[in-house]
Amino acid sequence: MIGGQMFVIDQSRCIGCEACVHACAECGTHRGTSLIHLEPVDPGVSTQTAPMVCMHCEDPTCAKVCPADAIKQNEAGVVQSALKPRCIGCSNCVLACPFGVPRYFPEPDQMMKCDMCFDRTSQGLAPMCASVCPSEALWYGTPEEFAERRPGQLTNDFRFGNQDVRTHVATVVNDRNRGPLDVATMTVRERWQDDPFGLGAG
Ligand code: SF4
Repeated sequence: MIGGQMFVIDQSRCIGCEACVHACAECGTHRGTSLIHLEPVDPGVSTQTAPMVCMHCEDPTCAKVCPADAIKQNEAGVVQSALKPRCIGCSNCVLACPFGVPRYFPEPDQMMKCDMCFDRTSQGLAPMCASVCPSEALWYGTPEEFAERRPGQLTNDFRFGNQDVRTHVATVVNDRNRGPLDVATMTVRERWQDDPFGLGAG
């Protein structure tokens, strides 16, 4: 959490509009380069997509495997892009991240990743992506606001094989019968996993 607010990602609400991808490219710290991407959930079967941002691990694997000590966490726990003077472009971090987030860019020969828009979040503003997401798949607010407005519970504990990972970004669980959000009426459709786009709803 930063200043009592938290960044929440709920992949099941993504409608694939890419507003987040374009908004990320507008960020003042990496203008023109988008550091969020959409993953296809079940290619060939469904068009459902899931947005991927840095989860900002409490004990980041990317920083541990960096031989140049180029990846730093700031005082709020935000894991930052590789420091340009130190990064040697080896891509160890790209391979090691359990969430598949960091990307190596040949120009400027550096790993860059989501820094949770720290220029904005440190001032109490939502990250660029969360400020434009129409279905609130990407959301920023206080835990109290989440409990009041949203179904499901938050978790920030993950397991990859034998590795337990705790993150600063939370995701939503126990919301399996909800979503995606109908942004016109701000209601959720039931049974979305059987009929994710409501095609059988008549
Ligand atoms: S803005 Fe929201 S709904 Fe649109 S693609 Fe990004 S995460 Fe999905």
